[in-house]
Amino acid sequence: MILTDTHTHLYSEAFDEDRSEVIKNAMNEGISRFFIPAIDSTYTASMLALENSYPENIFLMMGLHPTHVKENYQEELIHVEEMLTARKFYAVGEIGIDLYWDKTFLQQQQQTFKHQIHLAKKFKLPIVIHCRDAFDEIFEILEDEKSNDLFGIFHCFTGSIEQARKAISYNMKLGIGGVITFKNGKIDTFLEQIDLKNIVLETDSPYLAPVPYRGKRNESSYLIKVLEKLSSIYGRDKEEIARITTDNSKDIFGI
Ligand SMILES: [Zn+2]
Repeated sequence: MILTDTHTHLYSEAFDEDRSEVIKNAMNEGISRFFIPAIDSTYTASMLALENSYPENIFLMMGLHPTHVKENYQEELIHVEEMLTARKFYAVGEIGIDLYWDKTFLQQQQQTFKHQIHLAKKFKLPIVIHCRDAFDEIFEILEDEKSNDLFGIFHCFTGSIEQARKAISYNMKLGIGGVITFKNGKIDTFLEQIDLKNIVLETDSPYLAPVPYRGKRNESSYLIKVLEKLSSIYGRDKEEIARITTDNSKDIFGI
């Protein structure tokens, strides 16, 4: 069984004490492909170091996270483009709009999201979308930018079935993680109506640990809990779901 964690911040300080142990634990469970979303330029060196230690298993993205869009966002966008020009990345991410924490930079967040969609098209890469309290704002931009060469993942999808169908209509797969195991998570009530070909697995570790680890540090090995939950929602074998979702991740990232 080969499982793919399509969204893990393995370079985070949260793993500084035991990163190699965490990766080993995941590999023992069959999770051997890790896609690493960027946040801002302060993490680039740690991301590259991580890739250097596990070149067969670690696949990097490049981008500016919406909660890190601040006064210096233009310099950050130059860094993103320079990195994309300099070497191979597997997606532009994570990018999007987050109005949960702070609305001060909404306009800059919108501009930054659009700009990075243009970079994804230019470099022929998928996008990985972060959306928090911002479905309308995200969909507005996807509507403007939609095209055959725009595709990717709606990371940590937590919307309604209508929003799920809308995201899929823009060539996005739904990133499903620990929230699916939460009692108030809601997406478990309709997910079986969404074809598995539109689903990829993720942890978003160190955040959003699944039940029974909710509230603790999340790690990639807990992807098994997400897999188990999906297996019961869809009534399919874990092995089959692992195969389909890993194939979906290959379709998106090209590896
Ligand atoms: Zn993330």
